Amino acid sequence: MTGLMSVHEAQSRLLALFHPLEEESVALQAAAGRVLARPIYAAFDLPPFANSSMDGFAVRAQDVRSANAGQPVRLAVAGDIPAGQTAALELEAGQAIRIMTGAPLPHGADAVVPVEDTDFPWRQPGLAAPQVVQVKRPVQPGDNVRPAGQDVRRGELVLEPGQRLRPQDLGLLAMLGISQAPVYRQPRVAILSTGDELLPAGAPLAPGKIYNANSPTLIALAQRYGSEAIDLGIARDQEDDVRRCLSAAVEQGVDLILSSAGVSVGAFDFVRSVVEQDGSLEFWRVNMRPGKPFTCGHYRSIPFIGLPGNPVSTFVGFEVFVRPALQKMSGLAPRPLHVIRAALSEEIQSDGRESYLRGVVTCQAGGCLARLTGHQGSGNLRSLVQANALLLVPSGVKSLPSGAEIDAWLFED
Ligand code: AMP
Ligand code: MG
Repeated sequence: MTGLMSVHEAQSRLLALFHPLEEESVALQAAAGRVLARPIYAAFDLPPFANSSMDGFAVRAQDVRSANAGQPVRLAVAGDIPAGQTAALELEAGQAIRIMTGAPLPHGADAVVPVEDTDFPWRQPGLAAPQVVQVKRPVQPGDNVRPAGQDVRRGELVLEPGQRLRPQDLGLLAMLGISQAPVYRQPRVAILSTGDELLPAGAPLAPGKIYNANSPTLIALAQRYGSEAIDLGIARDQEDDVRRCLSAAVEQGVDLILSSAGVSVGAFDFVRSVVEQDGSLEFWRVNMRPGKPFTCGHYRSIPFIGLPGNPVSTFVGFEVFVRPALQKMSGLAPRPLHVIRAALSEEIQSDGRESYLRGVVTCQAGGCLARLTGHQGSGNLRSLVQANALLLVPSGVKSLPSGAEIDAWLFED
């Protein structure tokens, strides 16, 4: 295997070409799934003020210490505090103040008696508070009160940078009064397929032609990982046409040009020469299967990655190399698909290269089992469509017996 670069080395050399994109500020309504670019600290306590967690009566716990159903404690009702009002009222000894869930606890009160534990269990809208309330059960100081800062204290770190914003994260930002989230700009990725044999799906099929499978796959993968995809279509196997497509990518100000096919050493592989004329290209032979030829570099200062053309190689090349690059540009820590250990339910053969085989993993209480799907040729997409995982055979291994444990990368649905 001399002259072949390990997958690991190729990944780290490739990642060194990429950097997190700049920060931008987006409204919370548009921030779901975006990657947070800065730590978020709470500017104030949550809840911001002590408030009631029940509809009931604010009291001093000591006033109702002896309360029970047979001998309720009578308290004069000194007022009413709906949610959203300020607690200008001051509770004095022997008094209660009717209070709604979320309303601020009045000064002087230290607990809330739920309406259910009084002789006034009603809460219809518009119903005036009684003059006197009878409390049938005692409360401890702090009962049914949410103290200020119970959830978050002022100054605390609540969200760390480098994570995708989830719906609940947006809720917390909003609770802290933050309406614009500082996030990394999303990568803009131009996608190019190359080859005289390619037709776009929808065109009439002609002799010697096949439909372009890689563009739809790569566009969807780029979008799935949080990028904006720009479809450059199909370039013919001619320098001029390749140059025309690459120039269109430059004009659109993309962060990455991702092409498939046309980068091996075939007589019609013009992508390589065009990129080299107006930029630089490194050609690596990576110790992996499928997808040994891998190119990367720059075209007019824009990062360029050329994946091999066979559809399965394109897909695997994306998962192994492009995904971590997009993650890094997006401000995320590069990490592979979810990995699980599974035992092979059949013997498998490899050729000693680090292999990414298409398989199905099924898990039960006793553990996970993995089997291959269909013919593993790198042009055969069906085996990938039937798979729910890539099964990894480490480099240097040529066969694995049934029962051997392997790593599997589970696809995201
Ligand atoms: P190449 O690297 O140009 O020699 O292409 C390798 C193989 O992948 C050939 O069989 C091509 O026909 C096939 N291929 C290249 N690009 C695509 C594509 N976009 N969709 C489907 N097959 C492709
Ligand atoms: Mg070709």
